[in-house]
Amino acid sequence: MPSPTSGCIFCQIVRGEAPASRLYEDDATLAFMDIRPMTPGHALVIPKRHGAFIEDLPEGTVGPILETARKVAAAIRRSGLRCEAVSLYLANGKEAGQEVFHVHIHVIPRFRGDGFGLRVGPDYGRIAAREELDAIAAKLRTAIPDQ
Ligand code: AMP
Ligand code: ZN
Repeated sequence: MPSPTSGCIFCQIVRGEAPASRLYEDDATLAFMDIRPMTPGHALVIPKRHGAFIEDLPEGTVGPILETARKVAAAIRRSGLRCEAVSLYLANGKEAGQEVFHVHIHVIPRFRGDGFGLRVGPDYGRIAAREELDAIAAKLRTAIPDQ
């Protein structure tokens, strides 16, 4: 049976089997340029270990991905690329817009008028009732086993 990593384009990049414009690498993470940049400098940060969703990654292995994204964001700001702000974005599941099912954080240089944006539903803007928020928080608390 083929392993889940054999057909995964980002695992192929990690193994050096597919081309990528790499900019940073350590034991656990790799950063490379997105092939379809939203703005110039748009980079992706991935764990070298395959996982489709962040929940699939073992405890303790997610932090280093964000740490690398921090380094990349700082590099973008220092680089001279047009960058007035930086968006970090992680699509975790198809309905969230995920197209490549190997965890990745987008690090995207942002500037006024760049055309990038998140669309929200028509109900957005309503301040939720405290009871509603408390009830949902209680439900989530019981779904987190280790506390
Ligand atoms: P997402 O929709 O969050 O899953 O984003 C996947 C991203 O991966 C898209 O922005 C693609 O442009 C990018 N991408 C897909 N294949 C490659 C590749 N071979 N090298 C670099 N970026 C890629
Ligand atoms: Zn993979």
